[in-house]
Amino acid sequence: MTPLRFDNRFIRDLPGDPSADDVPRQVQGACWSAVHPTPVATPRLLAHSREVARLVGLSEADVQAAWFPRVFGGNELLPGMQPYAACYGGHQFGNWAGQLGDGRAITLGEAINDRGERWELQLKGAGPTPYSRRADGRAVLRSSIREFLCSEAMHHLGVPTTRALSVVTTGDQVLRDMFYDGNAALEPGAIVCRVAPSFIRFGNFEIFASRGEHGILGQLVDLTIARDFPHLAGDAQEKRAAWFAEVCERTARMIVHWMRVGFVHGVMNTDNMSILGLTIDYGPYGWLDDYDPEWTPNTTDAQGRRYRYSQQPAVAQWNLLRLADALQSQFEGVGPLQAGIDRFAETFGAGYEAMIAAKFGFVATDESRSALVQEAFNFLYHAEMDYTLFFRALGSLPAVVDAEGDATMLLGDVFYDEAKRDAHRGAISDWLRRWRAATMPAVESPGAPDALRLRMDAVNPKYVLRNYLAQQAIDLATAGDPSMVETLLEVMRRPYDEQPEHAHLAARRPEWARHRAGCSMLSCSS
Ligand code: AMP
Ligand code: MG
Repeated sequence: MTPLRFDNRFIRDLPGDPSADDVPRQVQGACWSAVHPTPVATPRLLAHSREVARLVGLSEADVQAAWFPRVFGGNELLPGMQPYAACYGGHQFGNWAGQLGDGRAITLGEAINDRGERWELQLKGAGPTPYSRRADGRAVLRSSIREFLCSEAMHHLGVPTTRALSVVTTGDQVLRDMFYDGNAALEPGAIVCRVAPSFIRFGNFEIFASRGEHGILGQLVDLTIARDFPHLAGDAQEKRAAWFAEVCERTARMIVHWMRVGFVHGVMNTDNMSILGLTIDYGPYGWLDDYDPEWTPNTTDAQGRRYRYSQQPAVAQWNLLRLADALQSQFEGVGPLQAGIDRFAETFGAGYEAMIAAKFGFVATDESRSALVQEAFNFLYHAEMDYTLFFRALGSLPAVVDAEGDATMLLGDVFYDEAKRDAHRGAISDWLRRWRAATMPAVESPGAPDALRLRMDAVNPKYVLRNYLAQQAIDLATAGDPSMVETLLEVMRRPYDEQPEHAHLAARRPEWARHRAGCSMLSCSS
C-alpha cells in the first residue's frame, strides 16, 4: 500500500541511543533515539496541503485513503519508516538550557520523491520521547492549526520555511494551562505532519559541543554537509567554511523576508533555528497589524521583549554566534567562523536595504528617499497604521495626488485610531505627495503607474495570516467546522493577488480582537 520510498540517512550515518527506554532522561553519545508514536483514539484528517502531498510523492487518493490518518496520526507505520526523536540542546531566552531534544516531534523517515528530492516527514504531538522532560509529548488543535496554516502561508509568501502535509485530530483530550494561571483545561488534541529537507537545528550542534563530544559533532557536521549541502566543493576545511558561510547567508535572507511580511517568530531560541535557514517551530508567532517595532506576540517574552519584531536581525546574529562557538572544534582557526558572521551582516544589510526600497517602490535609494522611509516608519507607528495595508495601498495610489486636502483618504481603512489619524493627517498627506513625486520618474510614461503597482504588489502581500483570522478558523474548527482552515489555506496560496472575493480576509484587525487571547498575544502553551 505504500507509495513512499525512504532513505533514512540521519539514523543510518549517525550514532543512535543504545537504550530503548522512553522515560525522560539525558541521552549521551547519540544523535537520536528510536521511538514509536503513541497511538491515538480516533485519528481523523482535518486538513492537508495538496502541494506538499505531491512534493513528498503522495496522490490525492493516498491522502483520502483510510490508512492516511492512521499513519499521520501515529497509529501505524508505512514500510521503510524508522521513527526517531533527535537529541539537541539550545539557548533559551539568552541562557544555555542543556538538553532539549524532540520532546513531542517524531521523525517517521526521509522520503525520496520521484525527482530524487529528500523530504523528512515529522509528526508533532505524537507522544512522549526520551526528550519530553516533564511534558506529555502532545499538541493541541489550536497550535496545530496555527502551525499548519502558517507554514503553508509563509511558503506561498516566498519565505523559506518548513512545510506542513496534514493536520490529524486525535480524538484524545490534552490538558493545558493556556494562561499559566493555574486554570488548566482539556482541549482537543491534534498532530501535524511537517515536512522539510532536514529538521536539524543550531541546537543539534550545540549539545555535543557542550558535552565535549567533538567526535559526534564532527560526524553531524559531515552528515549535514554531505546530505543537505551537496553542492559545496573543496577539501574538508574548505567545505566547512563554505557551509558555515552559507548557513549565515540563508539565515540573513530568511530574516529579511520576515521583516518584509511583518512576521514575528516569538521564540527565536537556538533550538528553533534551522540549519537550512528555514522558518521552523511555529509557536506563539504573530503578524504585525498596526506597525510597532517593539511588538512581540509571546506573553512569556512580554517583559524583556527579546524576540520583538525589530530585534529579530540582532537575535539571529547572536544565535549564529552561539553556533559558531559550538563549531570551534571543527575548524582549524576562527577565521572561517568570523567570515561567516561577517557574511550574515553583509547579506542582511544589503538584503534589508533592497527589500525596503522595493516595498516603497524605489528602484534605488538615495538620501532623500532614505529620509522618506524613516518618516514613513515614524508615522506608521505614531499614527497607529496597519503595516500590510499601508504598503499595499501605497502601490495603488493614483498617479496624481492633489496638492491640497486630505490624502490619507487614498489609503483606505489602514488606521486603528481616528484621533491619531487626525493628529497626523497633514504630515501623512504631505508625505504621500512627496512619495508620489519621488516615484514619478517611474510613472511618467503611459502604463508606468501600473508597472510600478505590479512591482510593489509583488513584494507587498495583500493577505497575511493575521492572528485574528487564524483564531477564527480555530474557533470554528474546534466547534466541528474546519471550512475556514480550508478557506485561509486557499487564500494564502496567492497572497499577492487581489482576490476580490476574499477582500474581507485582508481587513485590519477588528477592535474585538485587540486584546483577545490568540489574536494579539499568545502563550507558549501548545
Ligand atoms: P519550543 O520552545 O516549543 O520549541 O519547545 C522547547 C522544548 O520543549 C523542545 O525540546 C520541545 O520538544 C519541548 N516540548 C514542548 N512542548 C512539549 C510537550 N507538550 N511535550 C514534550 N515536549 C515538549
Ligand atoms: Mg522548538
